[in-house]
Amino acid sequence: MMNLYLENSKIIAERTKINSEIILDLEDNPIKDIYLKLFHFCYDNLKINSPKFGIEPSYFFYYNKENFINAGATRDNGNYILMISKDLIQKLHESIYSNNSIFKNDRLTKYVELSNLIKVDFNELLLQSSTLFTYYHEFAHLVQKNDGNFSFFENTENLFIPESHILEYDADLNGSQFVCGHILDYYETLSIENRNHENLKNLLSIGLAGILITFLLFYYREFDDDKSVDEFYLDKKSHPHTMIRISYIISHYQNIALENGIKIEIVEFLKETFLISDIFFKSNLYISNCLKIYEENIEQIDNYIFSLYDEASKRNNLMMQNHMKYNI
Ligand SMILES: [Zn+2]
Repeated sequence: MMNLYLENSKIIAERTKINSEIILDLEDNPIKDIYLKLFHFCYDNLKINSPKFGIEPSYFFYYNKENFINAGATRDNGNYILMISKDLIQKLHESIYSNNSIFKNDRLTKYVELSNLIKVDFNELLLQSSTLFTYYHEFAHLVQKNDGNFSFFENTENLFIPESHILEYDADLNGSQFVCGHILDYYETLSIENRNHENLKNLLSIGLAGILITFLLFYYREFDDDKSVDEFYLDKKSHPHTMIRISYIISHYQNIALENGIKIEIVEFLKETFLISDIFFKSNLYISNCLKIYEENIEQIDNYIFSLYDEASKRNNLMMQNHMKYNI
């Protein structure tokens, strides 16, 4: 696996303006296996999907810069580049995977049983849904042919860029869609007698919780010294407000499940998703404060999402209009 990684780093340094020093060297990295596993997924996925969308050649790498917690997509000398920073993976791995024993909580014992059935550690599944969301979000930016950073958290000096809100919306939907698909693939691995409404609901909740927890880690600036939380806004900054993003991500996730013939009441699996998140954060304030913002602004949020959808539908370069190419 390491050889392919090294070869890939060499090619990027040769063909682009990206300096080999900012491409992460994995040689002595303590969580090398985590990086390599995701690298392989991204490498293979780009190989399969880039030709379908006419974004070749495309490359993935880990950006090696201290205290830089982000992901991005850009073009360089005709090459399409998707990057995730070293620290983003490291921080997510620490908080979601290694320093976390949420599934030891009594209220989540049913998940331990389910985890044994699908033979995947659920902390790993949470981490997978977080990183896959990021990958597919950035992939959508490549398809949009838009340079951009993932940037969960935005600087206050960021100006409002209406076009950017639309592109972020489109990229988030792609992330949400593929996490849902990924979870359904796991469900398919269950033997017939274990495929039931309860297991499906719980698995879908894990996938959604992985996305939600990631957004909340950034929203509450868990990786940041500055803990100031963004007040609610509509037309500000480069990305829509976290509550707006969470809201359309959840409803898209449910719609994708529905398209796959799965009818689960949204309250039913949100209850599970919120329970997992509350236990993760060891407090119910993370979710309840968000719900309060949502309830206070529900009408504005719904209208804003509708206007994002309306504008996004008019743009032919968006993933939304090109999604069928995945099936070519
Ligand atoms: Zn983005």
